[in-house]
Amino acid sequence: MKKYKPDETNILNGIAAAPGISIYRAFLYKKEKETVNKTRIKDVEEAIQNLEEALEQSRKELKKVLGLAIDKLGEKRAAIFEAQIMILDDPILLKNIRERIKKEKLNPEYIVDDEISKYQAIMASAHESYMRERSHDIEDIKHRIIKNLKKKKWRSRISEDVIVVVDNLTPADTVLFSRSNVKGYVTDFGGLTSHAAIVARSLNIPSVVGLHDGTEKIKQDDLLIVDGFRGKVVINPIEKQLSFYKKKITEMEHYDSELLKLKNLPATTTDGRTINILANLDLSEEIEIVIQNGGKGVGLVRTEQLFEEYEDFPDEEEQLKIYKNLAEEMYPEKVIIRALDVGGDKVLPVDVKEPNPFLGWRGIRFLIDNCDLFKTQIRAILRSSCNKNVGLMIPMVSSIAEIRKFKKIVAECKEELKTQGCEFDNHIPLGIMIEVPSAAVLAREFAEEVTFISIGTNDLIQYLLAVDRGNEIVSPLYQEFHPAVIKTLDHIIRHSKLAKARVHMCGEMAADTVATSLLVGLGLDAFSVSPSVIPRLKKIIRSISYEDAKKLASECLEMRTELEIKTRVIQFNDEKLKKEELRLF
Ligand code: PEP
Ligand code: MG
Repeated sequence: MKKYKPDETNILNGIAAAPGISIYRAFLYKKEKETVNKTRIKDVEEAIQNLEEALEQSRKELKKVLGLAIDKLGEKRAAIFEAQIMILDDPILLKNIRERIKKEKLNPEYIVDDEISKYQAIMASAHESYMRERSHDIEDIKHRIIKNLKKKKWRSRISEDVIVVVDNLTPADTVLFSRSNVKGYVTDFGGLTSHAAIVARSLNIPSVVGLHDGTEKIKQDDLLIVDGFRGKVVINPIEKQLSFYKKKITEMEHYDSELLKLKNLPATTTDGRTINILANLDLSEEIEIVIQNGGKGVGLVRTEQLFEEYEDFPDEEEQLKIYKNLAEEMYPEKVIIRALDVGGDKVLPVDVKEPNPFLGWRGIRFLIDNCDLFKTQIRAILRSSCNKNVGLMIPMVSSIAEIRKFKKIVAECKEELKTQGCEFDNHIPLGIMIEVPSAAVLAREFAEEVTFISIGTNDLIQYLLAVDRGNEIVSPLYQEFHPAVIKTLDHIIRHSKLAKARVHMCGEMAADTVATSLLVGLGLDAFSVSPSVIPRLKKIIRSISYEDAKKLASECLEMRTELEIKTRVIQFNDEKLKKEELRLF
């Protein structure tokens, strides 16, 4: 029998930040917080000299981290450490510190702590999670300088082959630990957008973040299972759990090679329905993995990551280079580029505080109000579409007026490009994300306006069930198998098809292989998932029949509770899939 039991008591639930499964002992990493006392100094010259040495030492250390990061992560992502070095070189900050030491005759540790904390307080109170996460990076620099002022060595050695458990991980920690062959990360704080999570994904280290009380519940040397697919951490697993996950690892290793044999085969059900398996792309470098795993195109390029990579939003030429490169690498397969989706928990490029950011200036709302920025992106996407394999979609649509406005802006951009003699695909497919209940209810009317729709379950579920997708306290209420979710998906798919639009799903539900048979049965045309999931998804689709999946979907649509639906889906999987395939969950 399948053992998909999310409610076991020794399981902590967090956010799945980097996929994979790891079973190792816990290493509780407690960063010594440097205590700072306020003391008077006699020799100002000596204090300033001490400060300069500490700054120099900190710069040296960070440069070392930067070098390592460039090796492991490539230049672009390593740039986050350059940003930290720049803070160390900020002339205004350093001038303030020096002047205060001279004027107030207080110890440099105190002044450094006080001045940098001011910076941090501003960032920590920001609404945007991106800014709050940057405030943790600054914490890192502050402690580094104070530690060097005290002429202390900072880091205790980390033993090899452990799972690091820590309240919060900085990107520098993540890179440095990777030298010690760390096998997993578990953190109390941090979200998917944190740099540490991005770095962990790039380094392929299974990670679960945002557990809140992981460092309280996990003790040094506890045996842990990190399930980076589902965001679960099992503490001191019982035999049953251990053998379940061990088998899963063995099967996964065995299957990795087996699955790659499917690389060039289509995701076709046993009775002949072919489903497109596309990839979600967060960073352009991932394109290689998409190709290796046999992805049939890219269903979602999250362009907001460009902000992080470039600090500011890149201009038209820079964007063109990026999109064109993606389109060329994937050719003849398609690449769907999503217009900038900022707001909510993603950084807004302007300084506004919103009382309710998830219901605020998000996605298309922001783009329409910032038309120049929107047009720059549309023009770059259009110019990258010459080979006719690029699609353009917009996020967070809640009204037809927004879609029409979008189409009008696209038409204006086309006119401008024509006048300038630039080439583009005049029939570029336009699509929308269905993430808001109003778009779901009016799926047919919305779909009539475009060529394709992509269901963003991450947001759709949060808005439909009124459950914050990033809030651990209510996470048990965030239910993919809630009857309202299944009925809504059915409604969206059927009604969009009446409008002859293709229906994709690019939210995380598409990557949950437990749900695959039900989603196939509901009639999805394409799944868009993170590249590493592609082979597993393909295997499952190739093992089931569309007819059976449709019957499963009709049964589930009659059910009243999440538990009934989940139980039935699991039972279906148990009956229809082979033992080895079940272990892929
Ligand atoms: C979604 O909401 O399901 C989605 C894919 O968009 P994002 O996760 O980027 O909000
Ligand atoms: Mg979304």
